[in-house]
Amino acid sequence: MALKKTLTIAGSDTSAGAGMQADLKTFQELDTYGMVALTSIVTMDKETWSHDVTPIPFEVFEKQLETAISIGPDAVKTGMLGTQEIIKRAGEAFEESGADYFVVDPVMVCKGENEVLNPGNTDAMIEHLLPKATITTPNLFEAGQLAGLGTLKSIEDMKRAAEIIHDKGAQHVIIKGGKALDQDKSYDLYYDGDKFYQLTTDMFQQSYNHGAGCTFAAATTAYLANGKNPKDAVIAAKAFVASAIKNGWKMNDFVGPVDHGAYNRIEHIDVDVQEV
Ligand code: ADP
Repeated sequence: MALKKTLTIAGSDTSAGAGMQADLKTFQELDTYGMVALTSIVTMDKETWSHDVTPIPFEVFEKQLETAISIGPDAVKTGMLGTQEIIKRAGEAFEESGADYFVVDPVMVCKGENEVLNPGNTDAMIEHLLPKATITTPNLFEAGQLAGLGTLKSIEDMKRAAEIIHDKGAQHVIIKGGKALDQDKSYDLYYDGDKFYQLTTDMFQQSYNHGAGCTFAAATTAYLANGKNPKDAVIAAKAFVASAIKNGWKMNDFVGPVDHGAYNRIEHIDVDVQEV
């Protein structure tokens, strides 16, 4: 079988736990040919680890899309996009690419940073990305914003948000409860437009999990490209990221990335799936 091609439209995390580095590592681990169109470069101050975001000029972003589209991705993923112009262009690029699958990770704020949420970007995602999304992978905060419900506090809130996000056009929605929901398990809610399923694993260490969200969405993208249906793709992606989180490691006093290769190199973790 020919190698499937996956494209991420995302920012660069120089520390390489998250961002397009996480995406490319995950694409590689899951036997796809990973490509990238870069939106911005994030660097860290070595004394404080505060982040500095350098945008890529729009015309350079555009040239990357042209290159990647000419190669012909089978699946496209979005990560940190940054501006409404880029969000709109990313949605168009997916359509122009002819790819079969579009995974929208609606990144809103950089974890650990005090960036102010840009409501214009949220509206742009709703307008330009959700209607095209095969799957969207918001965390609790992002799901609350996309659905216009504010803070989600319960599984019932998550269900309501998933329905609203589905009504906005995303075919499948997985809301990552992760560590934010008060559960002793790691809890995600998946909605296919008809039924709800809870996906749970044990909760692993929470100190060295930088890049978990990107890795989860990238794994979903790769599994879709390689032929899994959306439900099986998110279940497999949760197993993949659970190994990565369990084996996360301390990089320095500020950050610890997940181990993107742990699923293939170290261990597989069971995901429990129940209709709810
Ligand atoms: P984001 O980075 O977008 O906030 P999360 O890190 O919350 O995303 O979630 C990514 C995936 O990892 C989800 O499937 C979530 O349930 C899972 N996850 C997050 N933290 C843990 C943990 N400590 N143990 C096990 N799974 C986790």
